Amino acid sequence: MMSIETHVNAAVMERHRLIPGKPLRVSAVAVIATLALIRAPCGWTETPGPLAPAPDQQLARDILKELVEINTTHQYGSLAAAEAIQHRLLAGGFAASEVVVVAPPGHPAKGNLVVRYRGNGAGKPVLFIGHLDVVDANTQDWNFDPFKLTESDGWYYGRGSIDMKDGDAALTESLIRLKREGYVPDRDVIAAFTADEEAGGDANGVAFLLKDRRDLIDAGLVVNLDGGGGNLKNGERYYYEVGTSEKTYVTYTLETTSPGGHGSLPGPDNAIYRLADGLARLEGYKFPVIITATTRASFRSLAALESGPQSPDMLAVAKTPPDLHAVERLSKVIRLNAQLRTTCVATLVSGGQAENALPERARATIQCRMMPGDSEQHVRSALIATLHDSKIRVTLDADPIVSPESPPTPLIMDKVSRVVHSMWPGVPIIPTMDTGYSDDRQTRNAGLASYDMAGVWMDVDENRAHGRDERIGIRAFDESVEYTYRLVKEMGRAD
Ligand SMILES: [Zn+2]
Repeated sequence: MMSIETHVNAAVMERHRLIPGKPLRVSAVAVIATLALIRAPCGWTETPGPLAPAPDQQLARDILKELVEINTTHQYGSLAAAEAIQHRLLAGGFAASEVVVVAPPGHPAKGNLVVRYRGNGAGKPVLFIGHLDVVDANTQDWNFDPFKLTESDGWYYGRGSIDMKDGDAALTESLIRLKREGYVPDRDVIAAFTADEEAGGDANGVAFLLKDRRDLIDAGLVVNLDGGGGNLKNGERYYYEVGTSEKTYVTYTLETTSPGGHGSLPGPDNAIYRLADGLARLEGYKFPVIITATTRASFRSLAALESGPQSPDMLAVAKTPPDLHAVERLSKVIRLNAQLRTTCVATLVSGGQAENALPERARATIQCRMMPGDSEQHVRSALIATLHDSKIRVTLDADPIVSPESPPTPLIMDKVSRVVHSMWPGVPIIPTMDTGYSDDRQTRNAGLASYDMAGVWMDVDENRAHGRDERIGIRAFDESVEYTYRLVKEMGRAD
């Protein structure tokens, strides 16, 4: 799960402006009360959202505990977790034919669970995806056992607690609750709990299902609980983000050679210097600005939340065509720069073969993140032109999984607003582009519009996913369970 972080230093007064009905003028008492909340350890705010009935809340917590305590790192695989969810769903009244565990040939431990909640057949199904695997945890670095769900100070600690066994547990419980209530969606709701999204993903479940078992998961729309969600700023609900696009990951190798020779007899042709000169030109190059439907909406909404000089600049880049002076100023902020253009950066370099010999070869790795709508061919030709040295060879490491934008259509934004505002009235909702990637790249690449809509609120500055002491606020988790239930119902409705 990822979240964009912004650089908005809103004062208490500005934050309060976001909440309807709150006075603009904030009394000293309110400021003190807010500061007290900032210190509240458990990640929820003064305006709590509704919760599921107590037994459902408890069931979701039990499922979260069960999933966290099954080690699903790359070497163990996700089969045991897939089967745990399968048992839960069968016990919750799903038929065996509706709950299928499948693994790619040669990877029996990389099990994926697909459940189909049958609807009335109005429209193409909606597919929910959630990965079951987690990244490794270095036990010595943790204050808790990463593979036990530990409760402390209002938090649940454990690997996968926020990325993303929380979403898997909330989704599983919601399906069980809906089944118990006799709910019938207008269209089929499919949920796929999958393997190998994280490091080492050589048996990516979504890719496997799309390629070999499209029959199980074919849908008109995809909802991913691995991204999106609520951002808290100083303990207040700041905004809710809907992930509608991601940058595309693409890597190149640069290589150049020279005659070599004795280190005592340097001449003009040296692979290391040639490569270094090319890299220096690349450092100075900026790709042209690309504004997508998502980033335009994103800048517009962030401008409304922002109080400083960035606010008018954000509005100016959201215009057609964008104001290039404003682009220039915002590009000085690393994270905003990444929202404005494709980026390429040197990440690895090597060269030479001996301390006392002239180099025969030098290499560099260039890691690029392409804007949706940009193309690998365009990026490669920009690299070649910028390096401006025909003796530096540019090769593509692997074909990228091109991830087009899923536009923030009024239909999608209305649906998500209905659910989000039923839980947390009045919070701003912003479509976002992630600079990293998730399994959305698989579904979007396969032509399925995909949206990230997790239900967890966390601090914009908190990012422990993949890190030590990964955690989720217990209250935030409980609210996400009710949110997910409402989301499944909303997405199951024909439009
Ligand atoms: Zn994740």
